[in-house]
Formats: sequence, C-alpha cells, structure tokens
Amino acid sequence: MPRNRSVVKPRSHCVRCRKLIAWYEQHSAGSYIVLSGRCRYCKRRISPRYPMVEALTAAVFCYVVATRGVTLGAVKTCVFASMVIALLFSDLETRILPDQFTKGGIVLGLHLRRSCRCRT
Ligand SMILES: [Zn+2]
Repeated sequence: MPRNRSVVKPRSHCVRCRKLIAWYEQHSAGSYIVLSGRCRYCKRRISPRYPMVEALTAAVFCYVVATRGVTLGAVKTCVFASMVIALLFSDLETRILPDQFTKGGIVLGLHLRRSCRCRT
C-alpha cells in the first residue's frame, strides 16, 4: 500500500522475478522455512519481514481468541490489531502510514462503534 500497489492483483508473487506464488506456498512462515528464505524460481532471498508479520499476526489473533473467545468483540480487536501491525511494519520500512489504514481505520472504527452495542 505505501508504494501504491494493489494487495489483490496481481495475487501473491515474488517481488523480484514476479512469478506467482502457488496456493500451497501461501503460508509464508511455513514456505519461508521450507524454501530456506529463498524464492522457488529465482532463488533470491525473501525478506524475513513476511513470515515475521504473519507469525506476529497469528500470535495476536490466538491471544485475542484465547482471552476473549470467539466473539464480535474479538473479531473487531483482530481487525484493529491487523491494521496496527500493518502500520507498524509500513512505518518501519517506508516511514509512510497509508491513508487506507489511518483514515480508513477511523471510519471503520466509528462505524463499528455505532453499529455494535456489544462489549469490546
Ligand atoms: Zn523470485
């Protein structure tokens, strides 16, 4: 997002050789270990940032669900945590906080706050 690239199209690919990543390689932490941190096609190194973000997000989701159960409040917390993690790593790498997360997060947060009377 900070580089104005879509996160949808093209689907997941190597940022160096642009080859599409197979469906069975979509688990970046597992694929990173299996492929020794290198692209299957061009053999160039893959940033450890990808599996780190995925592992951190999974750990936060597990913590939220373990402490709050599977509730709407937990879903909202996971969405918020995902945005904060994305902002953190975007800021660390590019020093840019994408409007999609900052302004979009404000709109989403206000909407969810109004539309849900559940405990958050
Ligand atoms: Zn590659």
